[in-house]
Amino acid sequence: MSALGERIARDYGSLNPILVGVLQGAFLFMADLIRAVPVDLTTDFIGLSSYGAGTTSSGVVRLVSDLSLPIDGRDVLIVEDIIDTGHTLAYLKRNLESRRPRSLKVCVLLDKIERRQTEVELDYVGFTIPNVYVVGYGFDHGGLYRNLRHVAALED
Ligand code: 5GP
Repeated sequence: MSALGERIARDYGSLNPILVGVLQGAFLFMADLIRAVPVDLTTDFIGLSSYGAGTTSSGVVRLVSDLSLPIDGRDVLIVEDIIDTGHTLAYLKRNLESRRPRSLKVCVLLDKIERRQTEVELDYVGFTIPNVYVVGYGFDHGGLYRNLRHVAALED
């Protein structure tokens, strides 16, 4: 976390970026990440839903709650928990790009690279993982397990 935070701090310097956490999954990662970024920054959250209660993506992304801040002219860093097919992030990047930020980058904790269906550029990646369904540390299954302290693979 500290290496990721220091890279972000170095890249943004005094730009006061808006870090946009994607709810719900990224709230713990966001909390830990911002404490590892020792520069002025602003936080906001956006709520997206693509899974319903299952473990496979529906491919249909829904905006559940919007940002509270305008982002035009600002340097925006999306903080996402995991990228799987890439549909959620592709949708979010299109959506935020249309609001004319000065820059738009992506930081993800986990990258399930072998599952990608649509190409999305990632600027900061915590870990690349195999195709397993993870829970804990903010990741849920049917709303449960977000409060586990560690990321764990869910067995059938
Ligand atoms: P994508 O649109 O890239 O297929 O899916 C991204 C979203 O699906 C993530 O934001 C996350 O909410 C959910 N997701 C993908 N893989 C997992 C997983 O292994 N565990 C959990 N809990 N959610 C996942």
